[in-house]
Amino acid sequence: MIASALVIGGGIAGMSAALVLSRLGVPVDLIDADPEWRTYGAGISVTGTSLRALDDLGMLDEVRARGNVASGIKGRSPDGSILFEVPPSPDAPPIQCSGGIMRSELHEILSLRVKASPVRVRLGLKVAGMDDQGDSVAVAFSDGTQGNYDLVVGADGIYSQTRNALFPDAPQAVFTGQGCWRAVAPRPEGMTGTEMFFGGQVKLGFNPVSSTHMYMFALENVPDNPRYAEHELVDRLKKLLNGFGSYVAQVRDGLGAHSLVNYRPLEWQLLADPWYKGRVVLIGDAAHATTPHMASGAGMAIEDALVLGRELAAHDGIEQALAAFMAHRFERARIVVENSVRIGTIEMTGGDQVEANRMLGGTLAALQQPY
Ligand SMILES: Cc1cc2nc3c(=O)[nH]c(=O)nc-3n(C[C@H](O)[C@H](O)[C@H](O)COP(=O)(O)OP(=O)(O)OC[C@H]3O[C@@H](n4cnc5c(N)ncnc54)[C@H](O)[C@@H]3O)c2cc1C
Repeated sequence: MIASALVIGGGIAGMSAALVLSRLGVPVDLIDADPEWRTYGAGISVTGTSLRALDDLGMLDEVRARGNVASGIKGRSPDGSILFEVPPSPDAPPIQCSGGIMRSELHEILSLRVKASPVRVRLGLKVAGMDDQGDSVAVAFSDGTQGNYDLVVGADGIYSQTRNALFPDAPQAVFTGQGCWRAVAPRPEGMTGTEMFFGGQVKLGFNPVSSTHMYMFALENVPDNPRYAEHELVDRLKKLLNGFGSYVAQVRDGLGAHSLVNYRPLEWQLLADPWYKGRVVLIGDAAHATTPHMASGAGMAIEDALVLGRELAAHDGIEQALAAFMAHRFERARIVVENSVRIGTIEMTGGDQVEANRMLGGTLAALQQPY
């Protein structure tokens, strides 16, 4: 086993990795570039695979308490009429459920655990240089301090500087042609779980994030990749919601300057196998960033951390452990990223929705297999 680890990036992947390694008895340093260690104000959908991973990390009860976990889903057409309904099943195991939680809540659940663990957290810090010396990695930090580690885990997100340092020729994130709008609003009466509106120009979904609130996401086709000023967001989103039936008009009319509204162009990147070189390994969005079509980024990031810990515990040598880690992770990440991007392309080109549904169902079913 390793005697020390550095985790670069304190997002979902990095915090999970730090906790997993620390629980194995490894002294861990976790650094994050953000001095405030913040996340942004949006909800996040948690699929069955994400819930199982959170359960395996020991956090499912807190996610249930601070977010919303349910089973069942309603599919609606743009006018609000029900296309299909999978009723909730009270005894469904986590893998058969889905849910939503505010990113700030999930961040707090994870970061409080990290702070309560032996992990040493250092904020406002980046890596200035890394030298893999074979038997350890010498790291120079941006504040002039240095460290020496048996293992370095790069979990610094889609624009990972660790990835750039390790694999300078790796492709950068690619814009897909869609943008994602998210807003938080009071939960309409009767909404118990995920609801999706299919078939319009905009794909719209709702997910409760607490007993009182839900978050809404809307995918828009934006081939020219527009950028919006903060003050334009609410009005632009309201326009996109025009024409939808059921409770959507009520949600739209309730949006205002007070609302949390967020817009992100969708990007993806999938690093070729292997995601490691020597004693430095990449996990989470640093290795495989996907569009939200499967809402599986969080679960995949946590699974990466759990599998990394499992393989490090099972192998004496780092090389063997990282090779075993890759054997479990690459194909799983590949189908999520490639099929998510493909579904987005079908949406943008008005392609075969049956193929998109089959791909979504098939990928989510594959993800239900043990990781
Ligand atoms: C629009 C959109 C909607 C999404 N919706 C969902 C969803 O509903 N469900 C879902 O499961 N997933 C969703 N995802 C994906 C999900 O957000 C990501 O997969 C997940 O957050 C990845 O976590 P991460 O820890 O790998 O990266 P990040 O969350 O990006 O964390 C990276 C961390 O590293 C830090 N950092 C960055 N650079 C450095 C550096 N050089 N040095 C030190 N620290 C650094 C950052 O401050 C940050 O804390 C969505 C993504 C997008 C873009």
